[in-house]
Amino acid sequence: MDTIFGKIIRGELPADVVHEDEHVLAFRDVNPQAPTHILIIPKQKEIPTLNDAGPEDQALLGHMMLTAAKLAKAEGIDEKGYRMIMNCNAEGGQTVYHLHLHLVGGRQMLGF
Ligand code: AMP
Repeated sequence: MDTIFGKIIRGELPADVVHEDEHVLAFRDVNPQAPTHILIIPKQKEIPTLNDAGPEDQALLGHMMLTAAKLAKAEGIDEKGYRMIMNCNAEGGQTVYHLHLHLVGGRQMLGF
């Protein structure tokens, strides 16, 4: 797990952790794009991009989404709304090659 997120999982870098369970770690983005900006990452397995995920990762991917929805509720943004984003590779805007789901909200989302 030789990425920034691997270091966070191993406790080598600090993070503002908001949730942890057997499968995922969730922490606040260091450069938030909205009042709530949380990253949900797999803990047990390093999957660089969504292209590297397979059928065996189906439950994990679903768990990441459901965790984001729970965190949205905990942040008090579930009713007003929020956005989940997963960037893939360079043109998708991915900069850290450890699969992660962004949960952003707390302001009006634009575009798309
Ligand atoms: P992406 O561009 O989809 O790969 O997203 C990577 C995200 O990780 C960016 O939003 C960064 O701000 C965030 N990030 C990078 N380093 C850290 C860190 N040490 N702690 C928290 N978030 C980070």
